[in-house]
Amino acid sequence: MSVDSPDITLGPSSNRGEFVDVDVVVVGAGFAGMYMLHRLRELGYSVRVFEAGTGVGGTWYWNRYPGARCDVESLEYSYSFDEKLQQDWEWTERYSSQPEILSYANHFADRFDLRRDIRFETRVESSAFDEDRNIWSVRTSDGGLTSGRFFVMATGCLSSAATPDIEGIQEFSGTMVHTGQWPKEGVDLTGMRVGIIGTGSSGVQAIPVIAEQCDELIVFQRTPQYTVPARNTPLQVERQTDVKSRYRDFREANFLMPQALGAEVPKYDDSIHDVSDEERRERLQEAWDRGGTLFLASFTDVLLDESANFHAQDFVREKIGEIVSDPETASKLTPEHIIGCKRLVIDTDYFETFNRPNVRLVDVGSEPIQRITESGLSTQSEEFQFDVLVFATGFDAMTGSILRVDITGRGGMTIQEKWSAGPRTYLGLTVPGFPNMFTVSGPGSPSVLTNMIISIEQHVEWISDCISWLDERGYVTIEAKSEAEEAWVDHVNSKAERTLFPSCNSWYLGANVPGKTRVFMPLLGFPGYVRRCDQVVENNYEGFVVQ
Ligand code: NAP
Repeated sequence: MSVDSPDITLGPSSNRGEFVDVDVVVVGAGFAGMYMLHRLRELGYSVRVFEAGTGVGGTWYWNRYPGARCDVESLEYSYSFDEKLQQDWEWTERYSSQPEILSYANHFADRFDLRRDIRFETRVESSAFDEDRNIWSVRTSDGGLTSGRFFVMATGCLSSAATPDIEGIQEFSGTMVHTGQWPKEGVDLTGMRVGIIGTGSSGVQAIPVIAEQCDELIVFQRTPQYTVPARNTPLQVERQTDVKSRYRDFREANFLMPQALGAEVPKYDDSIHDVSDEERRERLQEAWDRGGTLFLASFTDVLLDESANFHAQDFVREKIGEIVSDPETASKLTPEHIIGCKRLVIDTDYFETFNRPNVRLVDVGSEPIQRITESGLSTQSEEFQFDVLVFATGFDAMTGSILRVDITGRGGMTIQEKWSAGPRTYLGLTVPGFPNMFTVSGPGSPSVLTNMIISIEQHVEWISDCISWLDERGYVTIEAKSEAEEAWVDHVNSKAERTLFPSCNSWYLGANVPGKTRVFMPLLGFPGYVRRCDQVVENNYEGFVVQ
């Protein structure tokens, strides 16, 4: 196989006599792909990473919309594997902004000299497993074909932007942007009339900042959102110094948390029903004042029991009524569904923004958008005009970026066929019929319900250890067994069914994408998952066929 890029480290590596370009082909140069490359290189493997963007950072490369910020605290949302790295890097805020996280990603790439093995502006279009040679052949948008013994999809969970197919969309003559594909050069909103569709995490973060930048903002809301204050602040030097003085212990305490974060947030082990009305209010108020997504962890049963959940809903509903001056707007902003079954959002001045004279809320839940017009959009009763239309309409989450690559496994079966009734994996890492292919933070792993970077590290280390293990023993392929997949899918479902998570139309279920099969995709509980992955290894890769 010929390879024409001088900046790529090449094997050739041997696979029982077969020559391949590299040992491992990795798709994506976000936090997962970058660490995969680094770890494999450390183990002596040749790797090639393909990345559609012009730079590293994945999610944080694409999501440059105004106000983009992480909802996991910066001292936690960072690589933990390298003590010197975590000591050297200085975070400036409690929650990092997108530009700061992108600088960190670039620093990581420079520090470990990663770029020489990453081919940018190159999209992987297809990948096929050659059963005779046990090799993956990967075709890219530049016309190249690269062979590797292993194939890793490190494409992220929220990287396939979803733009609704609204009639007339081609007719809009102004600027149209999606928050998840925000132009690198930015969008000048000064003096503009802006329309924004969507009030999920991206919309809730963007709306207050856009409102400050533009002349007029119209927010088209289909479902009102529960959001609690982030309480972002500059990061206190004392706090950073303190955590750095005991970073390993800090990380280890977080590894034991269900979401791999928040070990230092006060914990309670009682039901919301077991306390007096006064104590319940006080505790929810404390969580509201502290800020952050762990608002829902104030009691053990908020996400388990509908009547417990109702108390937390009501608390937020009351806050909305207190913050928003116009009662009609407050009422439109008030959600009625289960709190937390759609991802809880944390915000800075979201509800306050609707008190601004230049912001208008339009409820497109009761009266849907009919069409996009040349100068705006229309509902049944009204025409709206604006210069810029922002889609904050989310992603084809967890599976979108995997399914847009034509991946063919054994017997000509494609991943699209395999997952036609929803994604099925073993451990969220592997798929029967697709030997030597791995997914980092794939469906069926804790991924989006955890601190993503920590979950990514655990996956990358598991995958690279697996590859070494195979090589040390002279094995050529590893493939999940169908019965292991079956049991794993049941396990993921049964965990979710014990909670309120499946009870509303969320992207966790794929409900935001028309026609997508509804399956609760992430697995609840990080520590149990890690134990299971470790056990599989201890039992010589139980649930897999290795040969
Ligand atoms: P999202 O949560 O899926 O929200 C999409 C929004 O668009 C929803 O309000 C949805 O309404 C609306 N929408 C979609 N199609 C529509 C249509 N045809 N008409 C009207 N409204 C429509 O997407 P997101 O806000 O991009 O967030 C996705 C995830 O990314 C988050 O949950 C989070 O995990 C991650 N994220 C994190 C951060 C952070 O760390 N702070 C920031 C941004 C994103 P419905 O609710 O009615 O479907």
